[in-house]
Amino acid sequence: MKFCANKNCQQKNPQKLENFNKRKDSKKDGLSSWCKFCSHKNNALWAIKNPEKKILIAARHRAKKEKIPFNITIEDIVIPKICPYLGIPILKNRKKITDNSPSLDRIVSKSGYIKGNVEIISNRANTGKSNLSAKEHLQIGKRMFKLTSNKMRKG
Ligand SMILES: [Zn+2]
Repeated sequence: MKFCANKNCQQKNPQKLENFNKRKDSKKDGLSSWCKFCSHKNNALWAIKNPEKKILIAARHRAKKEKIPFNITIEDIVIPKICPYLGIPILKNRKKITDNSPSLDRIVSKSGYIKGNVEIISNRANTGKSNLSAKEHLQIGKRMFKLTSNKMRKG
């Protein structure tokens, strides 16, 4: 059993050792000093306050995992107020991920997280962009537009 070091911990203390994440750098017992619940809460709060850093760390993780080239730094993460694709507001410092959340886009998706190849756009635009080329987006857009405007005319 072990006490969570967070004074404001809302768990019943002491807690089972399974409630503590492993930490290589911990000298004492190889476990982190805060319980999983407090660590998780703390990480979530940190991410809300540091959206640029959170985006950078997530990208670095992904690049490593998927063996994508990576050389961007925090200066390359610039969150605009408005999505350059859709014109909708980009809202940072929010708890939940929504259409309006900032999302890191690789301009040329085959290229990596390389300086000059990244841009923050809305999560909605990034999700929609996914795997299609610019030409394919136009083709789909044209047909969607044609079909829906026909429908509107016919009522
Ligand atoms: Zn705790």
